[in-house]
Amino acid sequence: TPLIELNHVSMDYGQGAESVLALDDIDLEIQKNEFLCILGPSGCGKSTLLKIIAGYQQPTEGEATFQGKVIKGPDWHRGVVFQSPTLYPWLSVKDNVGFGPKVRGVKKDKIDQITDQFLDQIGLLKDKDKAVFDLSGGMRQRVALARVLANEPEMILMDEPLGALDALTRLNMQKLIRDLWHKNKNTVMMITHDVDEALSLGTRVIVMSKQPGTIIKTYDLDYTYQ
Ligand code: ADP
Ligand code: ADP
Repeated sequence: TPLIELNHVSMDYGQGAESVLALDDIDLEIQKNEFLCILGPSGCGKSTLLKIIAGYQQPTEGEATFQGKVIKGPDWHRGVVFQSPTLYPWLSVKDNVGFGPKVRGVKKDKIDQITDQFLDQIGLLKDKDKAVFDLSGGMRQRVALARVLANEPEMILMDEPLGALDALTRLNMQKLIRDLWHKNKNTVMMITHDVDEALSLGTRVIVMSKQPGTIIKTYDLDYTYQ
């Protein structure tokens, strides 16, 4: 079975008689280990799609499932990274990354091990005791990634994660995201407005159009990694 399955999913934000149809009858399957990129003009429903899969929103029609079970709310199996990371500013880099496992009741030794592992993967091990407000935008985004990875989620959902970064940092981050995906074997869904980014990272790219949001084109790019 696919990791994610959307069956006839629609999302209407309207109140009463007035309809604001953000998604119209979407069918989508996401397989394990895919790197799915979503392209489309502003307002076509990309974020809505991501929020439904994350569990932040319930579709008004249809059904979204994760591992065959209806998605009822957010959980740690599906980690989310937004364009502007919301880190805990009063915590160190290390404590931000270890926050999820700590809440879950993981033992301190194990938390230290997981934290070091993912800080090493994102290249910030030497900065682990720094305060997050001392970090650049790119470094913060890397901490946000490590924080999600530390929960060892099956799936990572990213909503324009590199949109706020300068061109060079963005290139480095693209390489990092690809390496992390290879290493950790997660399933990734990433929204981007950058066609080159979608084509260079994705194993599949879907293009959405408005209005209302539908999937108009799918490109299978699996060959990129052969
Ligand atoms: P995208 O991510 O592609 O820019 P969104 O999913 O954010 O698109 O939005 C799709 C449509 O739904 C837009 O018309 C937007 O104005 C509308 N919309 C999004 N969120 C809400 C909301 N919470 N309430 C009402 N309308 C919303
Ligand atoms: P299930 O697979 O039946 O959902 P889990 O043992 O995976 O059961 O999860 C039980 C609870 O622990 C859920 O509320 C889930 O959100 C939470 N949880 C699961 N994994 C993590 C994690 N890595 N960090 C924090 N909470 C988690």
